Amino acid sequence: MKIYLTPGPSENYFVVEEAIKEALQKKITAISHRSREFKTIFEHTTNQLRELLEIPSDFAIAFTGSANEIWERILQSCVEKESFHLINGSFSNKFYEFAQKLNLNPSKYEVDFSKGFDLENINIPNSTELIALIQNETSSGVQFAVENIAKIREKNKGKLIVVDAVSSLPYTNIDFSVIDSVYFSVQKGFGVPAGLGVWVYNQKMLDKAKDLQSKGKSIGTYHSLLELDKYAQNNQTPETPNVLAIFVLGKVIEAMNKKGIAMIRRETDYKAELLYHTLEQSEFLSPLVKEKSQRSKTVIVANVEKGISSDVIAFLEKKGIIIGKGYGSFKDSQIRIANFPTHSKELMEQVADFLIEYGK
Ligand SMILES: *Cc1c(COP(=O)(O)O)cnc(C)c1O
Repeated sequence: MKIYLTPGPSENYFVVEEAIKEALQKKITAISHRSREFKTIFEHTTNQLRELLEIPSDFAIAFTGSANEIWERILQSCVEKESFHLINGSFSNKFYEFAQKLNLNPSKYEVDFSKGFDLENINIPNSTELIALIQNETSSGVQFAVENIAKIREKNKGKLIVVDAVSSLPYTNIDFSVIDSVYFSVQKGFGVPAGLGVWVYNQKMLDKAKDLQSKGKSIGTYHSLLELDKYAQNNQTPETPNVLAIFVLGKVIEAMNKKGIAMIRRETDYKAELLYHTLEQSEFLSPLVKEKSQRSKTVIVANVEKGISSDVIAFLEKKGIIIGKGYGSFKDSQIRIANFPTHSKELMEQVADFLIEYGK
């Protein structure tokens, strides 16, 4: 049996199979999304998420099709003219490109692939309405420390701050007092089949959307922030949603809450430490990100020093371990290994042993 350590989609969380079976038995895939039963599922999943991430009551939660969709909705509903983007890889760049495609006037602070941001050099124009932060860049395995988000807030009190934590939640301990929105999709750290985005937002985001709407701007159709929120208030969605995924996500988070977020974070730290240590010892591989504080705990990226990535990938595949290749143009020269809550300590110890064995 193969085990996936790809950085999304990745190995399913261990309760997923049972949850899908239960959903089918209970005919959850056939219920109306206007039924009481659906509202109960919506409420359960969002309550479990609130507990896991300690989301304060002044933040609401809505469901979309993906994180890509949330990028577009953020721009449509909460930006009139100017957004500002921190870019250090493919995902953060794509959000910026969405702003261009929507005829907005985005600005950016971009650093080289594999580099972190230098806070001193981030100059956010006064006219910026919304700051798009990337907490964990999945293409390069660079993390942006949560303390830095607070520093950006201090200097930008009046602007909206949205955080892409798609490949780091639930590991990352988000401080909701310094942000206006955070979002993720379920196929990364939550180990749920793809096809669901989760958008957490506060009143300031809603006020901005109302303001744009009152000025006559189109803020989107069925999934504008206001439309999503109107239904979310009533534990519903505007359209017929991915009920199965919302149900399964609720079961997964319930299991995570039973385990405890503190334990999940401790284990993630341990496994990341083990992998980075292994890469540092290896002659054949080395950590891509040199600055330790900027190394992602959940997506570990390595340079392949000898040979090409497909050699390492094939070696691990023979052992039943599927890892990711480098992103885009780095596909041959780098590998990426996910370190999500679904990946056990024992599994990571095995992977570390195999990486040491590789090339011997
Ligand atoms: C995967 C990913 C996305 C996009 O998620 P989709 O579910 O494919 O829309 C966005 N940002 C980051 C950092 C990601 O890793």
